[in-house]
Amino acid sequence: ENQIYSLFSPLEADEVTFFADLILPIPVPKLFTYRVPRGMAEALKIGARVIVPFGRNNGRVLTAVVARLHHTPPTGYQARYISEVLDEYPLVTGYQLELFRWMAEYYMCCIGDVMNVALPSGLKISSQSKVQFNPDFDYPELLTEFEETLLAELKKHPALSYDELGRLVGEGGNVPALIKSLVGKKAVIVFEEVKEKYIPKMVRKIRLHRNYEEKEQLLALLQRLEKLPKQQEVVMRYLRHVPMQHNPALNQKGLDKSILNQDDALSQSSLTTLIKNAVFETFEVIQPRFADNAPDAPVEIRLTEHQQRASDQIMAQFERQNIVLFHGITGSGKTEVYIDLIQQALAGGSQVLYLLPEIALTTQIVVRLQRVFGDKMGIYHSKFSDNERVEVWKGVVSGQYQFVVGVRSAVFLPFDNLGLIIVDEEHETSYKQHDPAPRYHARDVAIMLAHWQQAKVLLGSATPSLETYYQAKQGRYGLVELFHRFGNATLPNILLVDTKREKQQKTMKNEFSSALLEALERNLDRKEQSILFQNRRGYSPYMQCEDCDWTAECDNCAVSLTYHQRDAELRCHYCGHKEQVPRICPTCGSTKVRTIGFGTEKLEDQLQIFFPQSRVLRMDLDTTRAKNAYQQIIQEFEGGQVDMLVGTQMITKGLDFDNVSLVGIFDADRLIHFPDFRATERSFQMLTQVSGRAGRRAGRQGTVLIQTANPQQTILQKIIQNDYKGLFDEEIQERQNFNYPPFSRLIKLTVRHPDKTISHQAAERLAAELTDALGSSRVLGPEEPLVERIRNQFLFDILIKIEREKVNVKAVKAYIQDRINDILTDKGLRQVSIVTDVDCL
Ligand code: ADP
Ligand code: ZN
Ligand code: ZN
Repeated sequence: ENQIYSLFSPLEADEVTFFADLILPIPVPKLFTYRVPRGMAEALKIGARVIVPFGRNNGRVLTAVVARLHHTPPTGYQARYISEVLDEYPLVTGYQLELFRWMAEYYMCCIGDVMNVALPSGLKISSQSKVQFNPDFDYPELLTEFEETLLAELKKHPALSYDELGRLVGEGGNVPALIKSLVGKKAVIVFEEVKEKYIPKMVRKIRLHRNYEEKEQLLALLQRLEKLPKQQEVVMRYLRHVPMQHNPALNQKGLDKSILNQDDALSQSSLTTLIKNAVFETFEVIQPRFADNAPDAPVEIRLTEHQQRASDQIMAQFERQNIVLFHGITGSGKTEVYIDLIQQALAGGSQVLYLLPEIALTTQIVVRLQRVFGDKMGIYHSKFSDNERVEVWKGVVSGQYQFVVGVRSAVFLPFDNLGLIIVDEEHETSYKQHDPAPRYHARDVAIMLAHWQQAKVLLGSATPSLETYYQAKQGRYGLVELFHRFGNATLPNILLVDTKREKQQKTMKNEFSSALLEALERNLDRKEQSILFQNRRGYSPYMQCEDCDWTAECDNCAVSLTYHQRDAELRCHYCGHKEQVPRICPTCGSTKVRTIGFGTEKLEDQLQIFFPQSRVLRMDLDTTRAKNAYQQIIQEFEGGQVDMLVGTQMITKGLDFDNVSLVGIFDADRLIHFPDFRATERSFQMLTQVSGRAGRRAGRQGTVLIQTANPQQTILQKIIQNDYKGLFDEEIQERQNFNYPPFSRLIKLTVRHPDKTISHQAAERLAAELTDALGSSRVLGPEEPLVERIRNQFLFDILIKIEREKVNVKAVKAYIQDRINDILTDKGLRQVSIVTDVDCL
């Protein structure tokens, strides 16, 4: 702890010139030194945000964070002045600055990239060009008629933006060009207006004046108001809502003004008088945005015997281990155990961070947590607005939120006293950020955070990542197991349906086996719900001409376009490109253009045809774009009006429904045979997780039907037997044989260029240079990835495997970075870009 803070010694106030090294939100791998204006020096703190000019002619305005204060002028350039200090108190802690530095180094990116992603954009200022009449201007004869009009408007206003000006003078001219000309004639001045984006939502409140907080004064007041019954009634009304007779402190929180003068006009005027006479005072507070689900009284959690044992074991292991893996099967009630541990950590006075994968967050678990922790819990989520994120950030700084539940970016919150970090569903790939840099893994960052703050980490999963389980087996992490479902529920019965055989016997109806259709039918009869999983959205992934084999492909990417029936269009899932659906083949003119394969849309349609009386909902990226869409689907399904839920991997995660007794899985083979060394692990995780949605209540065992063309595959047998350990033993052997994680670290370099030859040339050179230094066993590629062209860039991947032991990883990374920089500055390879992904998934 001391070590971290001692990096930033405060400035001695009596020295003359002050400089600040700043983190700027731009992808340049260094800090920038700025000069601190005299009056600012004393107030300036490390971790505070400042505004600085940047770029040629200081044309840009940026929000920067102070990383260091000192007295050494920079060499090679003249330091510019900081323009403004935004924070009296640092919004970024010493731990965070340390984190930014570590992430930039570990993930091979710029510290500015890290800061830029870490800070919610509401904490960065935005700037806007404004135009102002120049009062020294005195050559009106040089102006054109339209310039005169503009100037006349400008004289009426203190300053106008280009847009405002355009609106005032009509569409008549090209405003930016005119302004440019007017600037040249020194008739106007253009400047950057800077404003903070964060706008708190304020609410006006009312409380009794401090003079009446003591019992005696309050009684005296009420007595005095005997003669003014209306005013007395208003005070009484206040006291009914705020029982400060028992606890004067309650008065400080006050009451919404609207509650006091609800219905009658009379109380309105009495209240106004009371305010005028300083009996009441009004004040403004920031409206909390998350209070909606806060409970009246916190719900008590009572752990089952098994859960209690797990919780005790975790606490016991934390005595010896900083990281514990909590391996608990689906439906075992891991959340309850987490709640117990969170309460203990909070009672001990430390902060708690609970990380969840992206999609599960908005719904069920958060509601469960809110019932216990109420508005003491902050929620940090990517679908929240900037303002909401800023409030959580500030709430952590102020101590309002000792406990935050959030997605991966919550690791950037300004904690300084963490006691416990929970990483729920730690195997989830959505913890890894792909774009933009930093391409970090939130679980691994959480482990670093905990390390610095001496906090404990609990990694929870029913299907741990091989990496994590391996660490536990090696004794580096603790391991606690919970293999009982809550309330004596049993794991579902998983059955394999041989689609090849059903096809031969002609019992398949489109994508549905007769076994699945019968099971769905039975479930409908029993009024129980079903979940159907197909990891592909849209109606069908291909559109093809029967006569000439033409397929619809994206103009920008080397992928087929997906047919979306609802919106009647073809879409690229890589770049977002959209096209109309061709009625005839664009190559041969044939009208026999058909769709091949199926996605969630098609399944939804077919279910509706097979079961016209039933209600089907679909949950995938296309139906959940709106802020609360996910929540709504869950609520509807939970409410029971819906019989079947069709979805992509979104429905595999964390959902907890009482009445789901059947899960159907399509296209399992495609998951299993995906060309990636992690495919087996991923399939096991995904299929086990989605299976785990079935039969979560005691009394009726759930059923899972997996449709496959090859029921003999060992992975499917392991899934049926819920044999995680068997899977682990087999897979870990493979990983060792081929030196894949956890036995090595992977760094993936992706070379991109619009010209395939140049892209290839750069990749070849990079791979050759790396092979020279690292040896051919450590460098794979260059290789074309599965999709070799995206957004008109041709891609080549180079994969670097670095052993865990006996290699100086820092030196290797530095070497790789040097080679990359060589290529990026090579004039022959202009426009080549290289994406570095450390610990790629
Ligand atoms: P997991 O995350 O391990 O799959 P959950 O935490 O979602 O399991 O728990 C499964 C279900 O059982 C949830 O509906 C939860 O509310 C319920 N449950 C688990 N433990 C308890 C408990 N101790 N008391 C009441 N309900 C519980
Ligand atoms: Zn054709
Ligand atoms: Zn595309």
